[in-house]
Amino acid sequence: MTSDLVVGIDLGTTNSSIAVIRRGLPEVLEGGDDGLVPSCVGLDSEGRIVVGSPARNQAVLFPDRTVLSIKRKMGSDEIVRLGETDYTPERISSYILGELVSRARATLRRDISRAIITVPAYFNDAQRKATRKAGELAGLKVERILNEPTAASLAYESDSSEASKILVYDLGGGTFDVSVVSIEQGVVEVLATAGNNHLGGDDFDALIVERLNLYLDEETKDDSHRSDRTVQARLRHAAEAAKKKLSTAPFAVIEEDNLKGSGRAPLNLSYELRRSDFEDDIQELLQGSLDEVTRSLNDAQVRAGDLGRVLLVGGSTRIPLVSRLLQERLGMAPHGEVDPDRCVALGAAIQAGMEAGEDVGSVLVDITPYTFGIRTRGDLDGLLSFHHYTPIIPRNSKLPVTKSDVFFSITPDQESAQVEVFQGEDPDTRNNTRIGGFRFDGLNKNENAYEDGIVVSYSLNVDGILDISARERVTGKQISGRIEDALAARPDDNVLELDLEDGPDQATADVAGELLLERVKAVLEKAPAEDLAEIKRLMKALESAVQRGDDEKADQVAGELSEILFFIE
Ligand code: AMP
Repeated sequence: MTSDLVVGIDLGTTNSSIAVIRRGLPEVLEGGDDGLVPSCVGLDSEGRIVVGSPARNQAVLFPDRTVLSIKRKMGSDEIVRLGETDYTPERISSYILGELVSRARATLRRDISRAIITVPAYFNDAQRKATRKAGELAGLKVERILNEPTAASLAYESDSSEASKILVYDLGGGTFDVSVVSIEQGVVEVLATAGNNHLGGDDFDALIVERLNLYLDEETKDDSHRSDRTVQARLRHAAEAAKKKLSTAPFAVIEEDNLKGSGRAPLNLSYELRRSDFEDDIQELLQGSLDEVTRSLNDAQVRAGDLGRVLLVGGSTRIPLVSRLLQERLGMAPHGEVDPDRCVALGAAIQAGMEAGEDVGSVLVDITPYTFGIRTRGDLDGLLSFHHYTPIIPRNSKLPVTKSDVFFSITPDQESAQVEVFQGEDPDTRNNTRIGGFRFDGLNKNENAYEDGIVVSYSLNVDGILDISARERVTGKQISGRIEDALAARPDDNVLELDLEDGPDQATADVAGELLLERVKAVLEKAPAEDLAEIKRLMKALESAVQRGDDEKADQVAGELSEILFFIE
């Protein structure tokens, strides 16, 4: 490598990172905190400046000695006080830049004096100048101030020669930006930006904390925990961890013992948060972000259908609901496979490499080109169907990936369930590829087991091995299976290698129809006399369709039967 090394720096509101081109490829320089440095600066007990995690960790206890989110003040003449000394926002930011650069020097064992630093596309001239100044105060020659959405686009599209319009949706810890950019032969232009300076993961954490506070109010019949700073800090910490867990699992358990300080009765918290409840809580905030998406498209005079790609940037875009809502609104699945916390720094490094005339390769990530899901009962074109496809691992997920979701048996007294694994994008499983299936027998028949459901988990590794498990939550009973070559399209009669802890080996029969019949039989005596003949006719038709293996017919009849059943039950 030449001595001309230019680094790319993402100077973020919550976290910052530094990247470089190494052996022709962009790379974020790791180093504690998985490569990200919290954008926090503080004074330690001896009056020394500390940056990153040590500063963030002391923020709750010593707020007067700690500065967070300095990016919000860049370009203003606001002064921040740390201990006895006043600092400009540029000076505080320069400490963060200095920390990143000294880590990079240690990793690369060479001097670094030149950088490209990214800023939000909406930053005005004063904010850009302040950022440049911060770089200079850190001893850097700032080669360029680069827009964050431009950097993100380069991380995905640096090697594409086709002209394309891209929407960059950037949801971080405290800010939300959306930009529409046009890219042509590596040249990126920001066409429009919109956003909300006060929307991000911190707001989602606060909603969870409020849930926990309400729960504690109820449990303790007292609200003194609300004014206890240490308790609130612990709740925030636990809430953020639970939120992250919910990005891959349907439930998160929040357990905090001895919440109150000594001298008081111990206060223990144990709370289970469901993904569905969390999604209900944040839905409104995310809808607000979608309005900004629409606004940016209007401003750029670009129709959603003309977008070549939608890119996800910022840690909060790992929340699955974000992708779902964007897909609904824009009609296309967004891309988040380049780590959303790192793609801005990677893009800045790519820009640096291109400017230095280097032959820069694109960011390498292993992704799944297909969605992996499960067959469920659900709505298909307005009709209840047993061929409804519920995705578990979305396509373009970075490998390895583990995702899980919760499913429910159709009736409380159901003794078995069929786990049918499909690969594909269609809402109807019959248009996807079935790559395996197994039967979960011996389900617990008590009401709790039914309500708590079965957690189905898919783990896909870089070699295309898909591990599947299904666990009944109440009993902990579990079955698991493996599909060796899940990334290769496979014929329908693929045989699963099963590792059943309980129950018989395997079954491929379509039990859904049978289950429905059992359910109808159970309520037959409650059926109004005038419906009886019709129900019996449908049952016969369903039975014979299942026997013949006529999925189409079974599906249609099952839909009709389900509707009648709905009224009887
Ligand atoms: P950023 O400002 O881009 O570094 O994003 C930081 C925000 O992303 C914080 O609010 C984090 O809690 C949030 N975040 C990071 N990882 C996840 C995850 N797996 N699921 C949900 N939010 C996350």
